[in-house]
Parts: sequence; C-alpha cells; structure tokens
Amino acid sequence: ELANMMSVSVNEVISSCMSLGLFVSINQRLDAETLSVVADEFGYTVEFVSVDIQEAIDDKNEESDENQVFRSPIVTVMGHVDHGKTSLLDYIRSTNVIAGEAGGITQHIGAYHVTLDDGKDITFLDTPGHEAFTAMRARGAQITDIAIIIVAADDNVMPQTVEAINHASAAGVPIVFAINKIDKPGANPEKIKEELANMNYLVEEWGGKYQSHDISAKQGIGVEELLEKVLLEAEMLELKANPDKNATGTIIESSLDRGRGYVATLLVQSGTLNIGDIVLAGQYFGHVKAMFNERNQRIDEVGPAQPAIILGLNGAPQAGDKFNVMDSEREARNIANKREQLAREQGLRTQKHITLDEIGRRIAIGNFQELNLIVKGDVDGSIEALSDALIKLSTEEIQVNIKHKAVGQISESDILLAAASEAIVIGFQVRPSLNARKLAEKEQIDIRLYSIIYDAINEIKAAMEGMLSPDI
Ligand code: GDP
Repeated sequence: ELANMMSVSVNEVISSCMSLGLFVSINQRLDAETLSVVADEFGYTVEFVSVDIQEAIDDKNEESDENQVFRSPIVTVMGHVDHGKTSLLDYIRSTNVIAGEAGGITQHIGAYHVTLDDGKDITFLDTPGHEAFTAMRARGAQITDIAIIIVAADDNVMPQTVEAINHASAAGVPIVFAINKIDKPGANPEKIKEELANMNYLVEEWGGKYQSHDISAKQGIGVEELLEKVLLEAEMLELKANPDKNATGTIIESSLDRGRGYVATLLVQSGTLNIGDIVLAGQYFGHVKAMFNERNQRIDEVGPAQPAIILGLNGAPQAGDKFNVMDSEREARNIANKREQLAREQGLRTQKHITLDEIGRRIAIGNFQELNLIVKGDVDGSIEALSDALIKLSTEEIQVNIKHKAVGQISESDILLAAASEAIVIGFQVRPSLNARKLAEKEQIDIRLYSIIYDAINEIKAAMEGMLSPDI
C-alpha cells in the first residue's frame, strides 16, 4: 500500500526497510516511525490521521432526535482525601429504598442508581476520587453530568479540592458543593465558602452561581437537600437519550470471577441493552448471558443512565472502554480482533529496544546475530577509526554493523533510526541534543558516550562476550 501511494515498486520499499535493518514481508504493517523514515527516503512526508474504529461505529449509531426521552443524571463525588466522599456515597447507597423494595444496595458494583422520594432518579458513579474521573476522561470517556465536590467544614479547601474543581471545570461538568462534617464541633462551613469565593467559586447563598449545601455524610443531615440541588442542576442540562435502539455506553469495571467468568459493570448511555445482545467492548465481545442490577437482582433489560453487571464477554475490557451492541457476531469478532492486533503492535512499538547490557543475555539465548550501531563523533578521523575498530569486533556469531556514522551531536533523527533498526547509539566526544535525549528515553534507546576510543571498543567487546558488568 505504501509503495502504491508513493508510485514506487514494492521491492524498493522493502529494500529501503532492509537498509534500516528491518527484514519485512510484503504485507507486513510498518510502525509510524518506520513509515516516516521510509517515506522520507522517497521524498514524501507522512501525515497520520487516526483510523478510529469507535468513531465509525458511533457514526453509524448516530443519535436521532426522535424518541429522545429524559434520563437520570450521572453524578461523581470528588474531593480531598478524608473529606467524606466514601461516607456520602455509602450513606446514599444504604438509605435508598426503591418503593416497594426491601433493603438498600448491599454491593459495590462501581455505579448505582437511586430513586428519591419524589420519584426522580440519580445514577452515582461509585468510584470516588478524581483519579477514576480523570482516568476515564483520559480514555475518552466522559460520562459524568454533574460533579459533587465535597469539602470538610472542619478543614480547608485543600490541594485535591482545587484539583477536583479544576478537573470538573476542564471537563465542562457543572459543580455542586457539599460542605461536609457540619456535625463536628469545630466545623465552620462559612469559612469554606469564603475560601471558595477567594477562588472565584461564589456559592448561591453568597450571590454566586454555584449550588452548595451543608451536610453531615455520617449522620445524613442535609443529604436529601443536597440531592435536590443536584436534580435542579440536572434539569437545566435537559439530559436526554433514545432508549429505542442498540445500547451504547461505557465500561465502569471488569474482572474475572471464578464461577461466573468475565464480569463487567457497565453504564448504558443510550439505547437499551437486552439479554442475548452482542456486546463489543474494547478488544472483547460476547452475547449477554445474564444481567444484574446493583441490588443483585436478575434483570432482562437496561435503559439509558442505568448501570448493570453483565456476564458473557470473552475478556475483561478496561474501565472507560466504550461498549456497543452489534448486529452481527462476525462484525463484533472482526473489530475485537482488529483492536487486539493494533494494541499488540502498539505494545511491540514501545517494547524495549536493545541495550548494551542486554546483548550478553540475547547472545546466550541464541537469538542475537547482529549488533547495529550508530556512531556520531566530533571529527571525521576519529569516527572512521572507531567505526573500523568496532566492525572488526565481528565474530562468527555476531556481525557488527554501522548503520549510520556522521560528525555532529546526536540528533532526534539518529534516535529514530536507532529505534527503527534496533541500534545502539555511540557518541564519541559529542552529546545528544535535549530533544534527542527525551526521545531516546521515550523510545528506550541506549546511548553510550565515550571520550576515549579504547574505552568504547572495550565496552562493546565486553558486551559481545556477555561480560559487561551491569553497573557500567
Ligand atoms: P474520603 O477519603 O473522602 O472517602 O473520606 P471518608 O468518607 O472515608 O471519610 C473520612 C473520615 O471522616 C471517616 O472517618 C469518616 O467517618 C469521617 N466522616 C465523613 N463524613 C463525616 C461527617 O459528616 N461527620 C463526621 N463527624 N465525620 C465524618
């Protein structure tokens, strides 16, 4: 494909790869760096556009404006450690009783759904802390509609409070403040509101736009009123979803259960998930064999903004992975396989490159026949002398190749070449540029610097004999 795009023969591309030390077959996928270097050789610049499979699925699934109905808000609780996130989530979980149902929610499944006295619903992400929130966001999943930021009234606005506020603001998620622990003797909620005001977060009772409520998560004081304020905020968002289509949503947690196989907690964001549906999530897929709610009751269907535990996937997707219901099992399998292949290639790409310390080990296990080097130095004469001496270190088992040699400091393109050709970079009386050093760290390329030719030769020789002491 690359050859076609550049209007050159396939053999030319293959031999260009070979000159980089890559022995490739005609249908082998090249990584990004190699593509750039090879294309560059033919005078082309590669521009990368993402081929996002998820995007394609989402497009196909595009939300139609018809059939949209109101859905419950999805709420996350964030705040400084020990300010009461867990206590608040626990209190809400244990006190909520759906009409006609005995008992609260007894198990932790990563998300739960409660119905308040007036019949309104809220779904809580039961993974307190902004790490979970940010980790999901980093994976492209934005599922929170409203953030409750909890601050202990017997303490101050703390660094993690500020961080939580910034994370929510950066995500464009409305904030409701919960000033907690007001039952404690030293509690001073007004001081917290003042501190927030100083950060330009003015709460409503101070004339600002941020809703806030004083609570005791431990005793349940003010929690109901807090949730009413959350619902008020939600009303303004006019949250809607279409329940009459294939379900899509996000994986909240997943694990392997000894008796039940792979178990995933997911949150449906639109559509309705049914028993028997073919779910594709990250690199995995499967028919939904059984579903449970947060009360451990078997359920047959799950609608928008509702969490559920599902059984039937063939692996454990990552938290934050999107899931889609597919019409055909074959398509689900194909996409899952493709994602797995891409992930594997990504893994290979960041796999550790060869280092001098590792050469002895690789020789010992017998899979090391070539030592590729890139030599940079301050003057031409010493580069030639050093290169000749290094090539002469070749033995019957190991061929020493100089992939590139030049005068000048070690540059980013030297590192790219080293990455593409599994080479070690040798600097004689020169150092890497700042960017080259950064890239080398990222790509895990071994750079060795010497100021005496004899030292360089001895060290490479020792490595080839598997005798390099590990502390060099
Ligand atoms: P998290 O780290 O934010 O999840 O905080 P926790 O919910 O674990 O609470 C930290 C500590 O504060 C625990 O010992 C709680 O019992 C206590 N705590 C939380 N909320 C209140 C409250 O409203 N009043 C009092 N007196 N203690 C509370």
